[in-house]
Amino acid sequence: MNLILLGPPGAGKGTQAKRLEERFGIVQISTGDMLRAEVKSGSAIGQEAKAIMESGALVPDSIITTMLAARVKQPDATKGFILDGFPRTVPQAEALDVVLREKGLHLDHVIELKVDDAALVRRISGRFTCAKCGEGYHDEFKRPRHEGVCDVCGSTEFSRRADDKAETVGARLDAYHRQTAPLLPYYAAQGKLRQVDGMADMSVVTEELNRLLANSA
Ligand code: ADP
Ligand code: ADP
Ligand code: ZN
Repeated sequence: MNLILLGPPGAGKGTQAKRLEERFGIVQISTGDMLRAEVKSGSAIGQEAKAIMESGALVPDSIITTMLAARVKQPDATKGFILDGFPRTVPQAEALDVVLREKGLHLDHVIELKVDDAALVRRISGRFTCAKCGEGYHDEFKRPRHEGVCDVCGSTEFSRRADDKAETVGARLDAYHRQTAPLLPYYAAQGKLRQVDGMADMSVVTEELNRLLANSA
């Protein structure tokens, strides 16, 4: 099963992708995570992407599509994948269609997580992750069970993304509405678009996704 989770920054794509990974045995492919790894390693791509990401704008399509095409060819993607944060522009979606066609693959569903802008700002400003295992948390909506200790790995170090500050959120939402939202009619025209209410509690969203995917498996 090959899916796209589509939705604005902070909609819950990463949170839900991790759960779908476990439930369906398919792999999460997050271009944001891949770019952050490039930035951390100081690679040429990372050096080019760093300032763009911190400004809240999108990294050029050519960099992203090259990176993604190589990633879907990895052996762990053969059982299926969840694209999280890709595609983000119509040219990226067109490039994905070409890559999939070349590999004889197809998309099963494109699922839009619908969340309104005010809720997104709150979600993004409260987001943090475990610095060791990457488990996601939120100041209000998902605190660790024991204060300051990761539920999953016991680490006591956490980090916040450089672009998750209030000043950058507006630019990221703007990029979503202008550059990414046109993908909704693009996939609706292919008959692939499904919508899930992303305003609900995390576990309710997970149930909705499971139901949608179980009915179509
Ligand atoms: P979020 O999950 O909060 O939407 P991501 O981790 O997906 O954020 O992306 C963080 C940043 O990385 C984006 O603001 C953008 O600069 C860059 N980025 C990630 N994926 C893409 C993509 N497919 N196209 C262009 N830029 C991207
Ligand atoms: P995205 O990958 O779409 O940018 P995340 O999955 O990282 O979004 O979620 C953004 C923040 O909001 C995280 O701190 C996460 O714990 C929290 N979050 C995710 N889903 C929900 C939800 N349904 N209700 C409240 N908070 C949520
Ligand atoms: Zn951890």
